[in-house]
Amino acid sequence: MVIVMVEYASEAHIQQATQKLEDKGFSVSRIVGVNQSILGAVGDKRGIDPREFEILDGVERVHVITVPYKLASREVKPQGSVLRVGNLDLGGQEAVLMAGPCAVEGEKEIFEAAGIVARAGAKVLRGGAFKPRTSPYSFQGLGEAGLKYMRAAADEHHLLVATEVMSVSQVELVAQYADILQIGARNMQNYNLLREVGKTRRGVLLKRGLAATIDEWLMSAEYVMSEGNEKVILCERGIRSFGNHFRFLLDVSAVPAVRERSHLPVIIDPSHAAGVRAKVPALARAGLAVGADGLMIEIHPHPDIAVSDGPQALLPDQFLVLVEELHRIARAMGKRFADEGSTVGMN
Ligand code: PEP
Ligand code: MN
Repeated sequence: MVIVMVEYASEAHIQQATQKLEDKGFSVSRIVGVNQSILGAVGDKRGIDPREFEILDGVERVHVITVPYKLASREVKPQGSVLRVGNLDLGGQEAVLMAGPCAVEGEKEIFEAAGIVARAGAKVLRGGAFKPRTSPYSFQGLGEAGLKYMRAAADEHHLLVATEVMSVSQVELVAQYADILQIGARNMQNYNLLREVGKTRRGVLLKRGLAATIDEWLMSAEYVMSEGNEKVILCERGIRSFGNHFRFLLDVSAVPAVRERSHLPVIIDPSHAAGVRAKVPALARAGLAVGADGLMIEIHPHPDIAVSDGPQALLPDQFLVLVEELHRIARAMGKRFADEGSTVGMN
């Protein structure tokens, strides 16, 4: 941390700031300029609020040099992480495709969806059995029955299961059926929930909160990792903005920003940002082109009768066409989809 004192700060104020830093365990070096002094503080700043120093008399500003997250930081693994989840590697040369309906609505529908997902060469079946809905009167998910249908459908097609867990009390149950526990955007800062999924050894798909900064998102990843679970996959799904041309503004710049700060894999969910299916393919292509490690896309065998997010679900044929385009983009980015050979040229 670097504390810049105001011009001509009094010796008493400099001493006071120095003392406070030392009291907090920092060792302090003073640089005396012509008009201004600077205090360089070396030590562990975890748990320290820089504002404690900003408000001291004679302090002009405080620069924090190290990031507050440690385990999620790229410093720990400069080469980046490749996470093994089930039979998949996330974060390496392979791009990962996760797809499925917004919600598990019934046995027939999820089996049909799993068939489409597998045909497209995607490796993870997504779908919510517990749904965070804006309205308490909307469909809330099938719960355990939905988890069972989903597991069976995924197993039939050799897919992994990614599904949302909304509360601490659901973690044990959902972890019995899922390979990847999804933390929804609205729960990104539910710290008790983050700790609880951190105690499991499942993959954790951590969606970015609707108004979360990159550092807040990475601090949430740190919560999971601090419990011993390193398998955190970050997912950008669009943030709130002033525009109304999309449901949420897909922040593609989050991908290189995360890459710079963290070793964790990052994927893009174009569906919740687009809000309508016509806009999903462009955002999906952009996601891969910006360097994401994969995509999570909502599809539905019959979107017109879907109980949630039907308008943004890709039609099966539309999904298959998009996947072919994604293969080309992945190749240009030096990545490939798992089992690429089986899907290219499919119609
Ligand atoms: C979802 O994936 O269906 C979902 C509810 O996502 P989010 O938490 O990003 O809104
Ligand atoms: Mn959805």
